[in-house]
This record gives sequence, structure tokens and C-alpha cells, in this order.
Amino acid sequence: MKDQRIETKCVQGGYTPGNGEPRQVPIIQSTTFKYATSEDMGKLFDLEASGYFYSRLQNPTCDTVAAKICELEGGSAAMLTGSGQAASFFAVFNIASIGDHVVASSAIYGGTYNLFAVTMKRMGIEFTFVSPDCSDEELEAAFRPNTKAVFGETIANPALNVLDIERFANAAHAHGVPLIIDNTFATPINCRPIEWGADIVTHSTTKYMDGHGAAVGGCIVDSGKFDWTKYPDKFPGLCTPDNSYHGVTYTERFGLEGAYITKATAQLMRDLGCVQSPQSAYLLNLGLESLHVRMARHCENAQKIAEYLENHPKVGWVRYPGLKNDPEHAKAEKYLGGTGGCGVISFGVKGGKAAAAEFMKGLTIAAIETHVADARSCCLHPATATHRQMTDEELIAAGVPGDLVRLSVGLENADDLIADIDNTLNNI
Ligand SMILES: *Cc1c(COP(=O)(O)O)cnc(C)c1O
Repeated sequence: MKDQRIETKCVQGGYTPGNGEPRQVPIIQSTTFKYATSEDMGKLFDLEASGYFYSRLQNPTCDTVAAKICELEGGSAAMLTGSGQAASFFAVFNIASIGDHVVASSAIYGGTYNLFAVTMKRMGIEFTFVSPDCSDEELEAAFRPNTKAVFGETIANPALNVLDIERFANAAHAHGVPLIIDNTFATPINCRPIEWGADIVTHSTTKYMDGHGAAVGGCIVDSGKFDWTKYPDKFPGLCTPDNSYHGVTYTERFGLEGAYITKATAQLMRDLGCVQSPQSAYLLNLGLESLHVRMARHCENAQKIAEYLENHPKVGWVRYPGLKNDPEHAKAEKYLGGTGGCGVISFGVKGGKAAAAEFMKGLTIAAIETHVADARSCCLHPATATHRQMTDEELIAAGVPGDLVRLSVGLENADDLIADIDNTLNNI
């Protein structure tokens, strides 16, 4: 499918049934797989033959769907994980451990920030957070001799910063480490980070890829382009024998295309077991089949609503990368193909915290949820929900002022959504 366009890959990628085989991706709801001899199975355990033996490590349904996402991102290998959180964790932990350090953009999902700054810190991995718009000097100063990766989000949730991927990739490569990009909001429809120099791409498939609020999941895609063997001292886990896996050296046995994902599967999945279920992978695949159609409509609807909000007297400010006046617009032109990149808008209701809360209550189509990136419109008022313990000053420092409403624009009719918002704003 390499030469085909992304729309065709969304629909057909990953799975080509043979004669008389199911047209739809089969759900292989089996924990285990049968073999005739112990020798046959031994070859699998030694990673000498490929095949399935236990669904904690690999499952055919999950692999089929991972292969589709791999094609969409232009990668060399991919794996599904049980959640987006697991994908972020594995992506970093696969190449960093106690005593190591990672540079991360400060404009990232709150859950990822906690994972890095609190939980992985407890595991002995230190993170330095830099603004996505920091100067070259600040970025340079963030690196240490023990830095093992750089991490950022294509479009930050919920701040909606667009990352200058090329710049971060160049900085990472100058220090001999890979760039890991969380591409959840943009999806490969609007941005393929590997084309801009990223080495590893992660997803919360829970969001647009699933798109229907049906299944929590994640994915990791490796570009196969980062040459670990140039820095064997930095990446011993990939370049020296793994004693927990019969002394296999991943880069030698699986090449640059396969080493990273094979290690994450054979070692991290084996030991930590954050698998996606075959049922969830099946639902994810249904979402992927229409991803290109849905993303176009999410962006079209969000653009219309953002432009409407910009002109409303009761709206103080609007942030959407697709708006000409948005500070991220130039980067959106470059990295998001001139689209707004996703269906998420943030804006401020004049009158602050109370007015924003009242606005949200009045909406009849968009529901109040912590979720985003769903076919159904939804909205969140961080100041009275996820960030409610913070004072007004703390909210501003965290980039979520009291008047901020995060609106995830769904696939409903845009004029219906605007009428609902208009009615609600005028009633405040
Ligand atoms: C939701 C989200 C995650 C975490 O994904 P889960 O599937 O909820 O674990 C990670 N990154 C981004 C950008 C997200 O929006």
C-alpha cells in the first residue's frame, strides 16, 4: 500500500484477506495459540520465528490494526497499547531508565505531564520542560549528557500550540537522541511527524482515531530511521544483549526498522502488560476507516465556529490554529496543511469564570465531558472542573484562565452548533 494515498490506507491498510477469508478484520478473542511441538513454540520464545503465543505480547487483531496506523504515519513498525498513557510511557521507558534525562515541551497533555514529572521521576528519570516557543539557547541548554529523548505534541491538548517539529527534530538529532511526537490531535490525516524528522510517533487512539468515544487505546509507531547503533553507549538496551531475552541484541537481530518496537513488545509488554484488547482494536479499526472523512469535517466545523466566535461581542478571545490571526497560524500552514489541525477550539467568555460556567450550562448540543475529539461535540470548563482546586492566579499561570472554555467540535451540522452557541451566549 506504500504508493497509495492516505484515504485508501485508512480504509484498506493493514489487512488484505485471502481467498474466502473474512472481509472484516477478524477479532481473534484468544489469549493463547496452539502448537504441535515444544520446539515450534521455543523458536517463538527465542524470537527466531514470528508467530503468536500469548496475547499479552502480541495478538493478530491488534497487529493488523497497528499495521494500518503504521502505514498512515509512514513508519517501519508499530504496536497498540492499552491507552495513550501507556503509549507515552512505553515510548520513553523503552530507551530511558533510572539516571537518564528527557527534554519535553511544556505544552503537553496534563496526564502526560503528570506521568513524566511525577511518576517517571519516581522511577529515576528526570524531565526538563521547555516552552515550545523557547529560544534556541534555551532549547540547547535543556540537554544534558544523559539526555535520551525529546518529547512534544504536534498540537498541544488543551493549549493548542503547534510544535515546530523540524526545529525540535534538528535539536534532538544534534544531541544524538530521537524526537518522540504525540500526534493525537492532528492525526496522520493532518500531520505526519516522521516526514518532518520525528523518529517515533505516539497516539491516544481514544481520541479522533476511535472517534466515537467507544474504546480507550494507544499506539506507538517507529520510523525505523533513528540509528541507535551510532550511540551504543546511550542506548544499551537496543545495542547490547538483552539477558532477559536469551541474549538477543535487538538492533542486530531486527535492524533499525524493527529493533525499537520488538524491544518494546518483547520486554516492556511482557513485563508490564498494557495491552489493547482485540475487541477494542476492532472498534479502533472501524474508526480508522472513516478517519480522513471525519477529520475534514471536524476541521471544517471548527473553522466556521472559531470564525463565528471571533466576531461575537461576548467572546473575549479565541484560539484555533486555523484562524488567520492565531499566533500558531504560520506553523499550522506549514505542519497542518493549512487546516486548523483538529476540531478543538479554546475561547474566553467575557465575564470570567462565572460567565463561562453559565455558558456551558446553557448549551443543548455540546455535552459537558472531560473527553475530546469525539463525533459528538463536547465542552469543558477547566476552572470549575479539571482545575477547580486552583486560585484565579494559579489558573492564569497554568495557561487555563477562568474564562477559558474548551470546545471539541463534533460532526453535527455547523449551523446547528452555531445557533446553539449563539442562543446561549446571548442569554448570559
Ligand atoms: C488523551 C490524551 C492522552 C492520553 O490518552 P489516554 O488514551 O486517555 O490514556 C495522551 N496524549 C494526548 C494528546 C491526549 O489527548
